[in-house]
Amino acid sequence: MKDHLTPDYMFGSYREVTPAFLASIGVRALLIDIDNTLAPYEQAEPDEQIVKWFKDLRAHGISASLVSNNHSPRVEQFNRKLGLPAYPDSHKPRRATLELAMKHMGVTHGETAMLGDQLLTDAYAGKHIGLVAIIVPPIKDKTNLFFRFKRLCERPFIRKYARTYGYQPWMVFWKIRKK
Ligand SMILES: [Mg+2]
Repeated sequence: MKDHLTPDYMFGSYREVTPAFLASIGVRALLIDIDNTLAPYEQAEPDEQIVKWFKDLRAHGISASLVSNNHSPRVEQFNRKLGLPAYPDSHKPRRATLELAMKHMGVTHGETAMLGDQLLTDAYAGKHIGLVAIIVPPIKDKTNLFFRFKRLCERPFIRKYARTYGYQPWMVFWKIRKK
């Protein structure tokens, strides 16, 4: 079976996903998860760093859309300052909303990346339709049993990434430590 879960790239924060990096891998459009990728659940609006990051993307000709499984009020409020194409209730890992967002941006699968914090939704959503999957550790994860279980399921794939591309200190989030 093809591995649609191991990220293509991982970074410690969305801020490390720079226009220069995206250009170097031939990506000119980003589909971006909100919760725990850009901000924790309880942060209703983007902070200055987020606004600046999006400004920088735009200045370098990178198109961006917000693709969230969260509901409309959350996504709308978060997007008020940003004014991006935004898709709430996107049902990741299903493909329909991602395809729609790419169609609206006028970009192809080959030049688009999905940026998120979850392998089962974000990485899978991107990879199984041929996008680049960029994963960051969650900013502040929920601690309930369901979320802990999801992270446990992710661990082998993060470990595989670490074996291939090297260990990073923030992988401790998945309880992966340098041997
Ligand atoms: Mg998320």
